[in-house]
Amino acid sequence: MSKDDLNRIFLSEEEIPTHWYNVQADMPNLPAPSLNPKTKQPLKFEDLQAIFPDELIRQEMSTERWIEIPEEVREAYKKWRPSPLYRARGLEKALDTPAEIYYKYEGTSPSGSHKINSSIPQAYYNKQAGIKRLATETGAGQWGTALSIACQAFGLECVVYMVKISYEQKPYRRHLMNVYGGRVIASPSMETECGRQILAKDPNSLGSLGIAISEAVEDAAGRDDTNYALGSVLNHVTLHQTVIGQEAKAQLAKIDRYPDPVIGCCGGGTNFGGISFPFVKDKIEGKKVRLLAVEPAACPTLTRGKFAYDYGDTAQLTPIMKMYTLGHDFVPPGIHSGGLRYHGASPLVSQLYHDGLIEAVAYGQNEVFAAALKFARTEGILPAPESSHAIKAAIDEALKCRESGEKKVILFCLSGHGHFDLAAYESYLSGRLKDVEYTDEMIAEGLKNLPRI
Ligand SMILES: *Cc1c(COP(=O)(O)O)cnc(C)c1O
Repeated sequence: MSKDDLNRIFLSEEEIPTHWYNVQADMPNLPAPSLNPKTKQPLKFEDLQAIFPDELIRQEMSTERWIEIPEEVREAYKKWRPSPLYRARGLEKALDTPAEIYYKYEGTSPSGSHKINSSIPQAYYNKQAGIKRLATETGAGQWGTALSIACQAFGLECVVYMVKISYEQKPYRRHLMNVYGGRVIASPSMETECGRQILAKDPNSLGSLGIAISEAVEDAAGRDDTNYALGSVLNHVTLHQTVIGQEAKAQLAKIDRYPDPVIGCCGGGTNFGGISFPFVKDKIEGKKVRLLAVEPAACPTLTRGKFAYDYGDTAQLTPIMKMYTLGHDFVPPGIHSGGLRYHGASPLVSQLYHDGLIEAVAYGQNEVFAAALKFARTEGILPAPESSHAIKAAIDEALKCRESGEKKVILFCLSGHGHFDLAAYESYLSGRLKDVEYTDEMIAEGLKNLPRI
């Protein structure tokens, strides 16, 4: 069979990357330093020790280009890595495009999304540091699931503060976390000071990621045996996800291809960073490759937010980070892509976007679900609503090629499967899905309480 006929491009276990790629070694401008939320001075190593193990703090601050993946983590990765790279032949045919479309599928992991690429090393380094228990937040439930699995693997307890609206609307995700041994608490809860304060003001609060993060950070900071784990946004999380882009690059090289554009959906920015950062270096060195982040029009952090210092959470407990933000007390409209409903974006992605090395585009949820359906029906894989933002952008790029006749090689990250999102599909299919208008007033309102630096 010729290389041009392949449908799935595999790597062997030995070809799992041995190192994570740290884009901070190659960025023309490093992100501005994060600040201590109390003193507003640049964050010191010690400031993070109450909630993170030393090795993850080192990774957070490192500018070393390659960081070795511990053998135990590579062993654990072998359960689902290297993940498959598919050629989307069915979709290409349906679009009648001369472009080739490839997708890196992260939904074959035990947790069903890319998030476990980071939960495994996070649990590992905490175990090494003698920690017994991890506290975290989850929106739609993918991160809580990934961390529950990782905690089981390394013998840690896992406590998950789950945004209340998801807790109520997505019981299956909650049950899944319980199966993997995670304890799930609806947030805001009575277990933390900040949860109690929010409930005192608004007993019916449906919660938000910003609130759940505050609760998990408070839980971790208050106990010696407990650390905090975050599934997105931070540098070390994005670092761990670079196995995605490194593998995809090697897979395409096997069939003599190089992608342009590279596409990922963007919530906090880690699957996008994961697939695209290994190409940033090439781009800086003059290679022609567009890197495209795709976000929901209802939570348009990069395309309509402000590049400013802001808190990562509602109660202002996290470091203040320079990033694109819609405001830390912004509660995004209840769209179905729960994993993309965060007010900020990774400081690394934000800086690269600010410097023009990456591009961003936003889509409404109805056009995203239309793309998801087209993909499911032509490729036979049910995509997560989050991932479907990347599908929509890939389809648009492929349609442009139909107009121009260009034979582009389009690569996107299919960050997870949608098996727990069928209620959302049902509401799309029955015509009940609404596109949420995100007005200029909402933008202005969200940005009102940015910290003054
Ligand atoms: C969490 C999640 C996202 C968004 O998070 P990023 O950090 O932006 O990658 C995207 N897709 C899926 C399937 C997710 O679970």
